[in-house]
Amino acid sequence: MHCLPLIEAKRDKRELAPDAIAAFVREFTAGRIPDYQASALLMAIYFNGMTRAETRALTLAMRDSGDLLEFPNDPRPIVDKHSTGGVGDKVSLPLAPLLACLGFRVPMISGRGLGITGGTLDKLESIPGFTTQLPPARLIDQVQRLGVAMGGQTETMIPADKKLYALRDVTGTVPSIPLITASILSKKLAEGLQALVMDVKWGTAAFMQTQDQARALAESIVTLANDCGVKTRALLTDMNTPLGRSAGNWLEVKESVACLEGRGPEDLTHLVVECAVPLLVLTGLESNPDASRARATACLASGEPRRKWNELLAAQGADLDAFEQQLKLDHTAPVIVEMPAPRSGIVTRCDARIVGEAVRDLGGGRLTKETVIQPAVGLDRLAHPGDTVNAGVPLCRIHAATEESARRAQLQLTAAFEISDTLPAPRPRITALL
Ligand code: URA
Repeated sequence: MHCLPLIEAKRDKRELAPDAIAAFVREFTAGRIPDYQASALLMAIYFNGMTRAETRALTLAMRDSGDLLEFPNDPRPIVDKHSTGGVGDKVSLPLAPLLACLGFRVPMISGRGLGITGGTLDKLESIPGFTTQLPPARLIDQVQRLGVAMGGQTETMIPADKKLYALRDVTGTVPSIPLITASILSKKLAEGLQALVMDVKWGTAAFMQTQDQARALAESIVTLANDCGVKTRALLTDMNTPLGRSAGNWLEVKESVACLEGRGPEDLTHLVVECAVPLLVLTGLESNPDASRARATACLASGEPRRKWNELLAAQGADLDAFEQQLKLDHTAPVIVEMPAPRSGIVTRCDARIVGEAVRDLGGGRLTKETVIQPAVGLDRLAHPGDTVNAGVPLCRIHAATEESARRAQLQLTAAFEISDTLPAPRPRITALL
């Protein structure tokens, strides 16, 4: 199979046949198409898009590039949640054990950080000993026993996404509706789900900058997933402000545990509960959103999901003693610097894009495929719009590997915050439900 005719066809805005797309995915996954040609094709798709039929063919070919999960019959519905990616977006961490405690099976297959957005796998790997590489048989066994497993694409599960995801991350080809749809749904369809909830983000730090673009992406995902037999709904959520008060891998794990212990930031806890609501309704475990909300809130407050979290960690190789000890530490990065407020007033902006770039440049994200993530770095105690601050008090704390990188982050972050004398209009985090 030669890739060049596909690149030329997409460059010239011609539609690719499903078998040509399937051949590309097969050959690329097998290492028989070089990265430079795959990158050219991805860039042509980025600029010229894909039809629904092309997107479907790409999704199914990527799904079928590896093993599919087949679960034994069981009354517990199989569900999952996926986010299109944001800054401080740690929802999956508290949500997965919550869903298991609500009576679901959750075989969550996630991705790594992409661009400036964080990734569930990178966050989980900041936990001492935790493995995200679960062979399918082990993943199924764990989900049957505990109700939840959290892993990533492997050489045998959706290997096409593993390779394409890494290449898109470093070739500027992430923010494409067909490529995001195929990447997400290839993973989700391989899980054998009954229901899926999508968190489609829009705003400065999201791949979709406007709510209209996010709606188009959500419609693409929801339509294809439902066509493929997975009952799916999507929340559109605002990603102009980081979610929660921390951004950075270990710091986000810490905040997720706080959420499981009833001490989490309000916006995070709200979104965790609201992601559970459509799943309870779609699977018929509850008859309406209000009852679902009450049940999810009570379950989260019961402490059961916090215990489930530790079971999950132990099952995936984490050293629980080391984990609990690390949780007690104020910080694990060698350098801590505060970002003082230049004046007194009310915070009107905390720009998620600048925050995401600062975290990436501190070493919490990737600039090349070879970057080794530094789990301890990031920001915490982030001020949010609506917070009142006095001059000199910290707008956030910077956790850095070196004094120099901390100073660089301080400079970057001066543009992230705005302080004024008037209270900004409240902005809901969830802006639509599809
Ligand atoms: N999340 C994914 O899994 N894939 C994308 O392409 C973007 C976000």
